Amino acid sequence: MLTFDEGWRGGTTHACDCCGNASRRTWTMVNRDDQPYAVFFAACYDHGHERETWIDVVFGTWGQGDYHDHVTFGCRFGPVAGSDAPAATAVDAAEVAPDDPMFGQKLTRAEALSHPRVKEFWEVVDFVVLSDPLVHPHHYEHSA
Ligand SMILES: [Zn+2]
Repeated sequence: MLTFDEGWRGGTTHACDCCGNASRRTWTMVNRDDQPYAVFFAACYDHGHERETWIDVVFGTWGQGDYHDHVTFGCRFGPVAGSDAPAATAVDAAEVAPDDPMFGQKLTRAEALSHPRVKEFWEVVDFVVLSDPLVHPHHYEHSA
């Protein structure tokens, strides 16, 4: 079972690079069965009728200062052509993230889609979109 470890929770607000609207960001640890499992970073954008969230998820060994097995996936969650519901699309990971060893290998979209952990990535993304106190209302409280 996935849960958020709120002890890790952080957040900031930035002016969006493209339009200057406020972009709210949040991150925390996701535990699986009460063990540290993955860290996610979400940046929520409000582009008029188009609400987007860019989500990075980092998997690896936690709590030992050892990042050699860390790997980062990225996606955009938001409106997509041909669907009434927002959906996630894989993108190159952590392109705007600081150059921090915690991210480990930042996967491109192509690398992500063929990676053995891609199903785990989508599972974490689903959990964040459904349950995160910032990301969920960003997409689901204002729908028409
Ligand atoms: Zn913008």
